[in-house]
Amino acid sequence: MKQLTAAERKLIEPIDQAQMLARTERWSALNSGTGNLAGLARQAAELADAFAVLPGEIELREPAPTTSVDAEGREVEIVHGKHIVLSVRPEADRRFLLTGHMDTVFPPEHPFQQGRWLDADTYNAPGAADMKGGLAVMLAALQAFEVSGPAAGYDVMINSDEETGSLSSGALIAELAADKAAALTYEPAALPDGTLAHSRGGSGNYSLVVTGRSAHAGRNPQDGRNAIVAASALAISLKAMEHAELTVNPAKIEGGSANNVVPDHAVLRFNIRPRNANAAQLFESDLDNLLHIIQRDHEVSVARHGGITRPPKTVDRGAQALFDLVRDAGADLGQAIGWQPSGGVCDGNNIAACGVPVVDTMGVRGGAIHSPDEFLIVESLVERAQLSALTILRLASGETL
Ligand SMILES: [Zn+2]
Repeated sequence: MKQLTAAERKLIEPIDQAQMLARTERWSALNSGTGNLAGLARQAAELADAFAVLPGEIELREPAPTTSVDAEGREVEIVHGKHIVLSVRPEADRRFLLTGHMDTVFPPEHPFQQGRWLDADTYNAPGAADMKGGLAVMLAALQAFEVSGPAAGYDVMINSDEETGSLSSGALIAELAADKAAALTYEPAALPDGTLAHSRGGSGNYSLVVTGRSAHAGRNPQDGRNAIVAASALAISLKAMEHAELTVNPAKIEGGSANNVVPDHAVLRFNIRPRNANAAQLFESDLDNLLHIIQRDHEVSVARHGGITRPPKTVDRGAQALFDLVRDAGADLGQAIGWQPSGGVCDGNNIAACGVPVVDTMGVRGGAIHSPDEFLIVESLVERAQLSALTILRLASGETL
């Protein structure tokens, strides 16, 4: 373990809670549910204002066009908010990526909109931990770094659609990750004690649109090809494809018809969680086979939409070196930093898939995220900003991974 150098002490010394807390409270009071475009625009404007204290150019990037399948099986466009990109010293040789998201899982009509104090050190508010507090930590760390760190290059990306899978920002994340030496993402710690998320499984979302043939249920049922039955057979076979490294969750069947009609239409939706790239690849080919069998046996056609949008995140040597660097920075600050695998997914999955070392839980300590009990442990604002600032300083000072 190293001691803090004089430069490192100078770096972390001005980090204080008041500004981070004020930002967290202000941002949590703005509704920025993933589908709330007006709220996201207000949130993006607030963030652009706050991040303007850093050098570099802030741009709002258009969301990439994305579609989903509606209950009728039609492909429809989904709208998203814009994403923020701040580019600092793009000419630098060695550059870093810092990412966060401005959206939350709470739509404007959700009852959870207001912040309140649970006790003197615990703040309960939408996005307080996931991740408006994390954005405040990221900004405070970069402010400290800009005061006394070396002139390193980095990009900051804050997307508006992380909570629904980053479908309109995935390509942007890959573009920004491409040339980076390392990345930090500001999801809340995996546990309230500050434990980081290490490897992560992946996630895929699929919609299967089944088209059969309708017929009268009494007069000529033999002429019908039942789409609901075929969708049910798919659901059961998909569930049976689970193994130690893959879970499958058939989630919804829509469609059907009146009781006296053989239904010719169904949509089956499901999610998969592959633990590793092998399991992901194997599932894709097993799914192809299954679709072939169901179409043949039920004489229906099945159109497949969706796929794996969060590849499994494995921790390679470079990524482990970044975890070690964060742990050592924590130790030098008197913080014990550990890690554990996580079943959840986030933009860290996408960054790791680009071969870039990433620690994706650099945000606050807190808990109960995605629920009205979401809380931020306020003293973690300073801790985590110091941890980030020191990590960024050591990376920028040339620690190789
Ligand atoms: Zn999050």
